[in-house]
Amino acid sequence: ECSGESRALFPGSVKALLDSVEAFLFDCDGVIWKGDKLIEGVPQTLEMLRARGKKIVFVTNNSTKSRKQYAKKFHSLGLVVSEDEIFSSSFAAAMFLKTTDFPREKKVYVIGEEGILEELQLAGFTCLGGPEDGDKRAQLKPNCLFEHDATVGAVVVGLDQYINYYKLQYGTLCIRENPGCLYIATNRDAVGHMTDLQEWPGAGCIVGAICGSTKKEPIVVGKPSTFMMDFLLQKFQLPTSKMCMVGDRLDTDILFGQNAGCKTLLVFTGVTTLSDLQDPLNNIHPDYYTSKVSDIFELLGQ
Ligand code: PLP
Ligand code: CA
Repeated sequence: ECSGESRALFPGSVKALLDSVEAFLFDCDGVIWKGDKLIEGVPQTLEMLRARGKKIVFVTNNSTKSRKQYAKKFHSLGLVVSEDEIFSSSFAAAMFLKTTDFPREKKVYVIGEEGILEELQLAGFTCLGGPEDGDKRAQLKPNCLFEHDATVGAVVVGLDQYINYYKLQYGTLCIRENPGCLYIATNRDAVGHMTDLQEWPGAGCIVGAICGSTKKEPIVVGKPSTFMMDFLLQKFQLPTSKMCMVGDRLDTDILFGQNAGCKTLLVFTGVTTLSDLQDPLNNIHPDYYTSKVSDIFELLGQ
């Protein structure tokens, strides 16, 4: 079976994949879980890969949690995963500032949730905003100036369920008025599974709001940006030809893997269907596609 340049996974290709790949990068939502629900067959598949000595990494664009909080989520779903196997876009934002020598005396304004704040603070940065500004209201009065901190040198934007006009004004002023202020987005996903049954607006809607008011484009640190991949490659010291990115989204996961030269596997347990893949307007083609991640396990005949 073929779709464009993509092939359906079959027993022979699973064997070839397992022979050639040393590290599997798994997207989380739509591959491992959907909202808070574990996807069927995942534990056995991860167990089989670990038993074969494969390195496993989880790469998620959802910035609302920190790596520590994700480790807890994995454990609550019965999966044993350590913090250093998790690469979230919240962690990527902190690592971006760290590796680009963002001056320690400058502050970071956060439009986002606990995950971003926790990762930035763990990396030693001084933060403003985040959940703390969730209840604030912009004072729209005549002759009343909205004050912002002139020492903010970066604004980090991710999904924020508590977004309000105060935060939009704060972030906008920092980006427009503080000289050299960086505008960083954790990701730009249009939608995400905030719950298992429904998609909800993703970070893309919040990032879009700040783009609208500043007329600036952000530095994106999550998938498909190469930043997270470069960081992963440094850690694993493996050629990308020995890595396989497994994801449910073409324009983030599959592109992320392909840009780096990894093998790619698309699964249909998330936001993409076979007809999306076969749509003539789609120009992103994974090496392989299959219905769910546990096909890797089942096709092996174990
Ligand atoms: N952002 C948000 C807010 C989400 O809810 C999700 C998925 O639930 C994502 C991003 C995408 O996450 P992932 O990269 O794990 O698919
Ligand atoms: Ca996903």
